[in-house]
Amino acid sequence: MIIECLSKEEAERIINEIKRLFPNFIFNFEINSNYSSIVYLIINGNIDVITNDILKEINAKCVFSSLEQSLFFVTNKGSLTTFDIGSRTYRPNDGLITMIAGPCEIESFTDLYETASALKECGVSVFRAMPRKPRTSPYNFQGVGDIGWKYLYEIKNKLGLPILAEVFSQEEIDLALHYDIDIIQIGARNMQNYDLIKRAANSGITTVLKKGMWCNNEQLIKAAEYFFVYGKGNVILAERGIQTHESSTRNTFDLSSIHYLKNKTNQPVMADASHGTGVRNMVIPINCASVLMGADVIEVEVHINPDKTIKPGDYYQMLTISEYRELLAQLRQVMGIRQLAFDFE
Ligand code: PEP
Ligand code: MN
Repeated sequence: MIIECLSKEEAERIINEIKRLFPNFIFNFEINSNYSSIVYLIINGNIDVITNDILKEINAKCVFSSLEQSLFFVTNKGSLTTFDIGSRTYRPNDGLITMIAGPCEIESFTDLYETASALKECGVSVFRAMPRKPRTSPYNFQGVGDIGWKYLYEIKNKLGLPILAEVFSQEEIDLALHYDIDIIQIGARNMQNYDLIKRAANSGITTVLKKGMWCNNEQLIKAAEYFFVYGKGNVILAERGIQTHESSTRNTFDLSSIHYLKNKTNQPVMADASHGTGVRNMVIPINCASVLMGADVIEVEVHINPDKTIKPGDYYQMLTISEYRELLAQLRQVMGIRQLAFDFE
């Protein structure tokens, strides 16, 4: 249940009234004052006792009943979501494409710096690289760890590029805040880690939420709703491929999801064809198709010299710099059809 209030004090008054009227019932209360003028009081628990008569009695304006529906903010086309994605201020249908590119995990500082410099020269919105990586096998390289955050900070300051990095815990969210990371990413394997989601939302940092490989769009949107309840809704929804019986690609990239998510929500939608296909020569065409489906953000794995990266890692899907240049060229052609422009130009 969501009660719209004029102030935090009003929300607190309503909480006290409900506790006084129903001392033997269980409730959780969350006050969200991240929105410009409205304060939302979100209540879960025994909300069926808070009837219309009770609402009248305590003078509370209920704008959403979670007994009837499960989503309010994320699908509310009336409340436009505006927030920063690197140096772009996202507004629905603003005609811009954000390019997020970089290696999978961080290895050496030299490779990282050279990759970032080369990408900057080609044109890029946000540089991505992960201090740690979740790997299915414990024998695969898991990243350099905390030193990686320092490397990213140095790159941000030397090259002036906004930075994206993945987080796994509150400690890493704290590191992201400390090192002034522009965008954090919650990976596919953590899409249903609601504790991490709440903490990411609470940090205020723009977050990429990747759809779990075993999840559907409804689950993704519900997870995104947490960002409004516990934060200010600055979440990017990412399609990165799902697991199916198909084995010719690493995952099955669901293009229709991009169209669906764009139409169902106000949120920016991201395509990650690198993990979505796991096949280098599919990354360009699938990204082009994603832009036609309405994607606002493209995330792509690129390395100055993929042959040099630790194997197997994500070697098979990693573009070279010249392939990245070709990706930009081909994207420009399809972007012309929708009259879109890169946000870094
Ligand atoms: C990544 O972006 O490098 C990554 C591991 O993504 P995912 O969580 O989608 O597998
Ligand atoms: Mn990867």
